[in-house]
Amino acid sequence: SPAVRVENVWKVYGSAEAQVTALRDVSLEVAGGEFTAIMGPSGSGKSTLMHCMAGLDTVTRGTIMVGRTTVTGLRDKGLTRLRRDHIGFIFQQFNLLPTLTAEENIWLPMTIAGRRPDPARLDRVIDAVGLRDRLKHRPHQLSGGQQQRVACARALLAGPEVIFADEPTGNLDSRAGADVLRFLRASVRDLGQTIVMVTHDPVAAAYADRVVFLADGSIITEIWEPSAEAVL
Ligand code: ADP
Ligand code: ADP
Repeated sequence: SPAVRVENVWKVYGSAEAQVTALRDVSLEVAGGEFTAIMGPSGSGKSTLMHCMAGLDTVTRGTIMVGRTTVTGLRDKGLTRLRRDHIGFIFQQFNLLPTLTAEENIWLPMTIAGRRPDPARLDRVIDAVGLRDRLKHRPHQLSGGQQQRVACARALLAGPEVIFADEPTGNLDSRAGADVLRFLRASVRDLGQTIVMVTHDPVAAAYADRVVFLADGSIITEIWEPSAEAVL
């Protein structure tokens, strides 16, 4: 069964007088170990789709599953548990806690969940992300690229069913962005991580296995094994 399944999802914002249909009958499956990018013009529904998949927003109609969990059947407590135990998040703004070291930031979601990371996985993740000599640094002592790699390690550590990445390279120069994308790609290859990434950047999207294009709330096409040229 797929890691993420979106079935006939509609999302309508607003009241009867002022409605915006952000998603129109969207269906999408992401297989386990697959890296999917979502692209589309501003306002096409990318954030809405990702937030609905991640249990950060509710749908108006339709069904979303992450692993064996029916996200659209959950209420507050269940959604909190889903986000805590089954999903990793990477944001454009890194969202690291400034008073904690890199290592403490990486551990934080597991600390909050009262879980201990598998030491072998911790080692692999820290090595893979290339932060061994930065673990005691605080976010302001790290470059943007290093901060985002800390955020990637944090998202990966618990072995989430899926990682949702919202413009992960949006605040990085192209070199730092490429480091982050190579790391995400490697986590798919080496750990079988499933990733769904929203991006504006065709170069970033070319790291994915597939690019899904949204326009006006609908999926209009998809490209497998994209090149940056194909995505442009
Ligand atoms: P994208 O991420 O592709 O830029 P969004 O998912 O943010 O698109 O937005 C899709 C549509 O839904 C847009 O028309 C946007 O204005 C509208 N929208 C998004 N969030 C809200 C909200 N909280 N209330 C009302 N309309 C919203
Ligand atoms: P934007 O798309 O405006 O840049 P973000 O991507 O930073 O915003 O965050 C999107 C939404 O997810 C926000 O409402 C934020 O409060 C929420 N959020 C951020 N981090 C987490 C988290 N770890 N768990 C649950 N919700 C989160």
